Amino acid sequence: MEQEATLRTVTELKRVCVFCGSSSGTNPANEYATIELANAMVERGIDLVYGGGKVGLMGLVADTVLAGGGNVLGIIPRNLFSREVAHRGITELVETENMHERKAAMYDAADAFVALPGGFGTMDELMEITTWRQIGSHAKPVGLVDTDGYYTGLLTWLNRAVTDGLVSASNARLLLHAPTAPELLDLLAADDHVAAPKWDS
Ligand code: AMP
Repeated sequence: MEQEATLRTVTELKRVCVFCGSSSGTNPANEYATIELANAMVERGIDLVYGGGKVGLMGLVADTVLAGGGNVLGIIPRNLFSREVAHRGITELVETENMHERKAAMYDAADAFVALPGGFGTMDELMEITTWRQIGSHAKPVGLVDTDGYYTGLLTWLNRAVTDGLVSASNARLLLHAPTAPELLDLLAADDHVAAPKWDS
């Protein structure tokens, strides 16, 4: 019984939700990392869930998964982005009424979450899904690909938040990170960390 209780619960990754820039930016390392993530997902038989756009790194991750023969589910809010932005060539494109519905649908559809480099939208989604894990709304692994040190500043902030007692050391471990996508996918699949209660009663 004792042994059963300590068995690790690992996640079978069938669908991973990727947050990433709706722009491509100027650093080719970010495009490389996007392609590397998409190819690693296809190799492992993992389908893509994402925001449904055809622009920037978002379009690149979707196109690369499709080119490798993988399935892509895009979820995009109706009437919020220009109709030109939606990727009509993916396996399934779902339109939601608004951004809140869209995010909830993306979160429900995936077994784990990966952030590549991106801007405010990417940070919003990454912080929200990590917060939801912290408060126990889901138990799915979350991580970021620290491509070319893009997230060094964020990880420095996280250490500071732990030092100042604003994030517990235990909950800091909810946000996994690795320099490359294959390494991160390994971490996500092995993640068995349980969120600590945010507040003591
Ligand atoms: P950003 O990092 O600010 O470029 O925003 C990218 C993230 O926000 C993506 O993961 C999307 O889910 C969402 N997003 C932002 N802009 C768009 C767009 N034009 N089309 C679809 N989703 C978008």
